[in-house]
Amino acid sequence: MRVIRDAVALRAATQGWKAQGERIALVPTMGYLHAGHLALVARAREVAPRVIATIFVNPTQFAPHEDLGRYPRDEVGDIAKLEAAGCDLLFAPDVATVYPPGFATRITMMGPAEGLEGTHRPQMFGGVALVCTRLFGLCAADVAVFGEKDWQQVMVVRQVVQDLALPLTIETVPTIRAEDGLALSSRNAYLDAEARQRATALHAALQHAAARLRVGAPAEAACGEAEARLREAGFRQVDYVALRRAEDFAEMARLDAPGRLLGAAWLGQVRLIDNIPV
Ligand code: AMP
Repeated sequence: MRVIRDAVALRAATQGWKAQGERIALVPTMGYLHAGHLALVARAREVAPRVIATIFVNPTQFAPHEDLGRYPRDEVGDIAKLEAAGCDLLFAPDVATVYPPGFATRITMMGPAEGLEGTHRPQMFGGVALVCTRLFGLCAADVAVFGEKDWQQVMVVRQVVQDLALPLTIETVPTIRAEDGLALSSRNAYLDAEARQRATALHAALQHAAARLRVGAPAEAACGEAEARLREAGFRQVDYVALRRAEDFAEMARLDAPGRLLGAAWLGQVRLIDNIPV
């Protein structure tokens, strides 16, 4: 696997593949890779003969008070994992390569970026849309693979691809979980042993709410119960538990179409998110 950090060498590699008619699948990540990321690489290998993974902790999607500076990193370990997963190229640029001096473009996202994560992290989806658009171009991607773990992010990325007529398709992979149900996340590294045990309550609360919705409970009641369960389990703050329509992310008062239940809550200083189909 080649490790490339600059845009010129990356362009040479992608042009070589394109000249041979090989399509490129992109897996954007922020590193500290786990089995969830590697499932995206496996999916990428199924959909294109060439796979590029990127590791870039994107400053434009973090607010000043968030964890940009302490985001976990392990590039040596990540390279070994990507190599074993059959990735062809790792693009691991520095900030000045992604946002060179004079970079002047910003993206404002509406629609699926509004509400939920968009309310609690207002800077995030503009930053995600910006970095994804830039990485799609730099990597000449024909397809990009994202995880359902970040469901609202998938909706936002699909929207920006459609709105800007970007020449690629988006693939998604279901959330990979630990045996006890906790969605794998690089941020789980912040959890101490006790918090790690409590963290399982997030998936359990969503499952409980899903069961209530399936027997006809109003969304407000089912989500309220889930929030109460999270507080009982030791989460200090629940940002939201919400039901949305799977197709277009619209709010739903009851389960009258395929839905998605999403939650975000704080265990001490660690913010966890999860979602399940319902
Ligand atoms: P991140 O490095 O957290 O920005 O995530 C990079 C990509 O991996 C995103 O598309 C995430 O949705 C995806 N991802 C993260 N965790 C998981 C997981 N547990 N299962 C599936 N995909 C995941």
